[in-house]
Amino acid sequence: MEIGFIGLGNMGRGMAANLVKAGHHVTVYNRSPGKAKALAEQGATPAGTVAEACRGEVVITMLADDGAVDDVVFGEDGVLASLAPGGVHISSSTISVALSQRLTAAHADAGQQYVAAPVFGRPEAAAAAKLFVVAAGAPAVLERLAPLFDAIGQRTFAVSDKPDAANLVKLSGNFLIASVIESLGEAIALVGKAGVDPLHYVDILTSTLFSGPAYQTYGGLIARREFEPAGFAATLGLKDVRMVLAAAEELAVPLPVASLLRDRFLALLADGRGHQDWSAIATLAGRDAGSDHSA
Ligand code: NAP
Repeated sequence: MEIGFIGLGNMGRGMAANLVKAGHHVTVYNRSPGKAKALAEQGATPAGTVAEACRGEVVITMLADDGAVDDVVFGEDGVLASLAPGGVHISSSTISVALSQRLTAAHADAGQQYVAAPVFGRPEAAAAAKLFVVAAGAPAVLERLAPLFDAIGQRTFAVSDKPDAANLVKLSGNFLIASVIESLGEAIALVGKAGVDPLHYVDILTSTLFSGPAYQTYGGLIARREFEPAGFAATLGLKDVRMVLAAAEELAVPLPVASLLRDRFLALLADGRGHQDWSAIATLAGRDAGSDHSA
C-alpha cells in the first residue's frame, strides 16, 4: 500500500520501520527533519512537507498530543487539505475524545475516511511490532486496513464504528496503568521504609498474584529507578490523565483516583521532572513517607 507516516518520535519511528519491512511503500514526515533521514536509510521515502506525505491512499499520524494533531491536520497544507477524497487518515496518537469527534466530522465533510487506532505498548513494543491496536471506524475500512495493523502490532481490537470510542478505551487504559504505577509506588514506599529490598519485593509480586505486563514493566522500572531516558514522558502522562478527566466530566462520571493522579503528575512537573518516565510519580509516595530523599 502507498502510505504516508507523520511523526517519527519514540513510537512512530518503530511503527514506520515495520510498515516498510512489511513491504509497503512508506513516505515519512517529521517536523524535525533529522528523524526522517534515519528512516530513509531503512527504505522509507522522506517527505519535506505534510502534504507530500498525504499523496498515498492512507496517512498515519503518530504525534505527541492534541495540539500537534490539530496543527498537522487542520493547518495550512495539512492532512485535511492534502489527502485525496476517499483517502484514509489513521490517527494513532493518544488524543482526546473531543478532538477525535472533530476529526470524524471534518474528514467526512472532505469526503475522506477517518479511523482512530491508538495503541498500547511502549517504544520497545513499537520497534518489535508487538503493539496492541485499538481501532474504530467504518467496518469495511477497518477490514481493508487489517494488513497495516498486522504489520505494527500483535493484535487488533475493533471496538466500534465510532472512532472516538477507541480513544476513550485507550485513555481509560492509560488511567489504569497510571493507577498501577501510583499503587506500586505506595506499596514500595511502605515495605521499603521497613527495609525490604524493592527488587525482591517486585519479584514476589510479579511471581504471584500480579503477573500482568503493567506490574512487570512498571514494577521493574520503579524498583530499578530507571526513569531516564523516558519511554513515555511524565508530561505525556499528565496529558492523558487530563484527557481522561475531560472525557469523564463530559459523561458525568466521577473518577476520584484520576484526580489524585493529576496532582501527582503536577507535583513531578513542578519539581522539574516532566522529562522523566511517567513511572517516576511512584517516587512521590516515598518522599511523602520521608524515606525517598531523591524525590
Ligand atoms: P514523542 O517521542 O515525544 O514524539 C512526538 C512526535 O510528535 C514527534 O515526531 C514530534 O516531532 C511530533 N510533534 C510534536 N508536536 C508537533 C507539532 N506541533 N507539529 C508537528 N509535529 C509535532 O512521543 P511518542 O512517545 O512517540 O508518543 C506519540 C504518541 O503516542 C503520543 O500521543 C503518546 O501519548 C502515544 N503513545 C506513546 C507511548 C509510549 O510509551 N511512548 C505508548 C502508546 C502511545 P519533533 O521530532 O519535531 O519534536
